Amino acid sequence: MEQDLHVRDRVGVQDFVLLENHTSETEFIENLQKRSKEELIYTYIGSVLVSVNPYKNLPIYGSDYVEKYRNVNFYELPPHVFALTDTALRSLRGELVNQCILISGESGAGKTEASKKVLQFIAATTRKKASLETVKDKLLQSNPVLEAFGNAKTNRNDNSSRFGKYMDVEFDFTGDPTGGHIINYLLEKSRVVFQAKGERNFHIFYQLLAGADDALLEKLSLKRDPNQYVYLKQGESSKVSGVDDAESFKIVRDALRVMEIGDEEQEALFLLLSVIIHLGNIEFASGEGDRARINNPVLVSTIAKEVKGEVDVEIVFLFDKFFKLLQCPEDKLVKALLNKTIEARDDVVVSPMGRDEAVKARDALSKSVYERMFTWLVQRLNRSLQSAVEVKKKIVLGILDIYGFEIFQSNSFEQLCINYCNEKLQQLFIELTLKSEQDEYRREGIAWEPVTYFDNKIICDLIEEKHKGIISIMDEECLVPGEANDKTFLNKMDKLLSDHPHYLSHAKGDNKTKKTIEREEFRLLHYAGEVTYNVKGFLEKNNDLLYRDLKDAMISSSNPITKDVFTSSELNSKKRPDTAASQFKTSLARLVEILISKEPSYIRCIKPNDVKKPGLFETGIVTHQVKYLGLMENLRVRRAGFAYRRPYEGFLNRYKSLCPETWPHPKGDPKSAVQTLVNHLKYGENDYCMGLTKIFIRLPKTLFETEDAFQKR
Ligand code: ADP
Ligand code: MG
Repeated sequence: MEQDLHVRDRVGVQDFVLLENHTSETEFIENLQKRSKEELIYTYIGSVLVSVNPYKNLPIYGSDYVEKYRNVNFYELPPHVFALTDTALRSLRGELVNQCILISGESGAGKTEASKKVLQFIAATTRKKASLETVKDKLLQSNPVLEAFGNAKTNRNDNSSRFGKYMDVEFDFTGDPTGGHIINYLLEKSRVVFQAKGERNFHIFYQLLAGADDALLEKLSLKRDPNQYVYLKQGESSKVSGVDDAESFKIVRDALRVMEIGDEEQEALFLLLSVIIHLGNIEFASGEGDRARINNPVLVSTIAKEVKGEVDVEIVFLFDKFFKLLQCPEDKLVKALLNKTIEARDDVVVSPMGRDEAVKARDALSKSVYERMFTWLVQRLNRSLQSAVEVKKKIVLGILDIYGFEIFQSNSFEQLCINYCNEKLQQLFIELTLKSEQDEYRREGIAWEPVTYFDNKIICDLIEEKHKGIISIMDEECLVPGEANDKTFLNKMDKLLSDHPHYLSHAKGDNKTKKTIEREEFRLLHYAGEVTYNVKGFLEKNNDLLYRDLKDAMISSSNPITKDVFTSSELNSKKRPDTAASQFKTSLARLVEILISKEPSYIRCIKPNDVKKPGLFETGIVTHQVKYLGLMENLRVRRAGFAYRRPYEGFLNRYKSLCPETWPHPKGDPKSAVQTLVNHLKYGENDYCMGLTKIFIRLPKTLFETEDAFQKR
């Protein structure tokens, strides 16, 4: 098959470094196009793997391929995600160096699929030992659980991950997997209460309705039809073609069991899901004095009742069952759905909410319950993935599957967070590739001309710098409720940041017409391009407020999961919880810390069209992504250095048969024998460099030619 693969993969170049004109974007795209037409979806930029989504299953991930790629130097076979994983694994085992695989690309480009292939390869190539099978099973089964609760159908991807994920696979010193750990980032919780046309809520809701048996549905007071529920039907698209939700529900339940979440806890999860579904169906109307009142004629009967406390509330008896589901006293929740308590200095003020405010508060509750449930789930997966045996020295391989750069028609707070994340990862890329390259050249005593590149630190600072950055300004505005709003936030940014080269204010007016544009937008010049953000909703999303009355109601619920995730310490704490952006900033800083100590490998995923169609390569769409992923820059950096380096022994052992003076027994030390060998092979003076312990080869072409000679000998 090796021969086969070589013959098959003669389309374009396997490594972009080989392109005649490495600065030509057109040539770059053509190479991608040529290759993906032949279903060669992988191409390298040096050791970076570029992957084009084929939108169809290719027969290249079977056990035959696993065997073929296992323990083979990666340039000896056509590019493949297995080759990249194998290289990382061998470095992990051989040198006991922590690894990380960073996967990026826009939604639908194939990141999550790539991460699954990485895990598959790890599970398949480590020892088949009974004691390891449980660990491997758990590592693999954590995926269906997270996907059910964290993925959804969007217009870009039928199985779109709506959260960022970093997973460490832990190994002992022999290279056997012993456990794992997952960190989740920024779940798109707004989806719980709203979906755009053509999209769905998180998969698990539909799986539950389709897959639960009648008894369970009855217990949850749910009907099978998702179109009965506001939270599930807004996208008008409750089915995903080719997906059997009922079948998926079985798979998820099995996976939950593997992850040691038993029937009782599963039921607690389903109860919370049903509570959220029911919450979505509560309707509010404007009552007396513009106060909100619950307005579900079918579901509730209204009985006025005196309550102890500061205000008279109209107590409504919601369908009893709902409160049984939540296991929370009903007057408490009803009161909390209609009123808010605000502590101002020494005073406690309870005031009734208006209709719109009540809707927002209800949605905030639904989002918060779902988000906390998701975090709880990740914690439970982690508990189950924890190494059963005490491992003295853990070595890890991390896999990062996180949202790529987003530029939509309308961009909001979420896009700012996501794009900020990408700026940080670009920083890391610069740091890790350039730093590690230069370190190695220095260690090996190789002369090297540093490359200039755009350092995006200035943009990271613009967003995150203390006291001056966008997040700080936003947080400050969030501290003065009542007085501040999205507009004042925008004005403040315009005032403080207008001199920044990467900040552009729309309010400052159009340069040509000199007229002020009234749009409430600002623009950031990201490393990957310009993005216009609409400030509407920024402060609210950043504040991420859940009124204490609702928290209080949740605390009194006896559902075992809410008991875990809503605690009274949170109510009593005088400290303001961190804003959403600040929390995200902290978690990103931690992520960078985790990654920076590891040896990185990169997978850059590209989607060839927006319609999920095999065989269709749209140049415009691909060109955009090549830009945003910084691939041309990647290539430039790569070209400036040496594409490949190999220890003298390894190089000699493989190729000594190509030269009569080194075959079968090379004379002298490995370095001088390699010198003899490359002289014989007529390597040009500029094609390589002799380091202390390794030969450095500038272009993969040189190595490929040598490899070809070896194959043909
Ligand atoms: P992302 O995580 O980048 O948003 P996914 O990994 O979920 O994207 O991929 C989206 C869809 O594209 C998958 O559901 C699958 O149908 C298809 N796909 C992605 N990568 C591959 C691949 N290597 N082979 C076959 N199909 C793929
Ligand atoms: Mg994904």
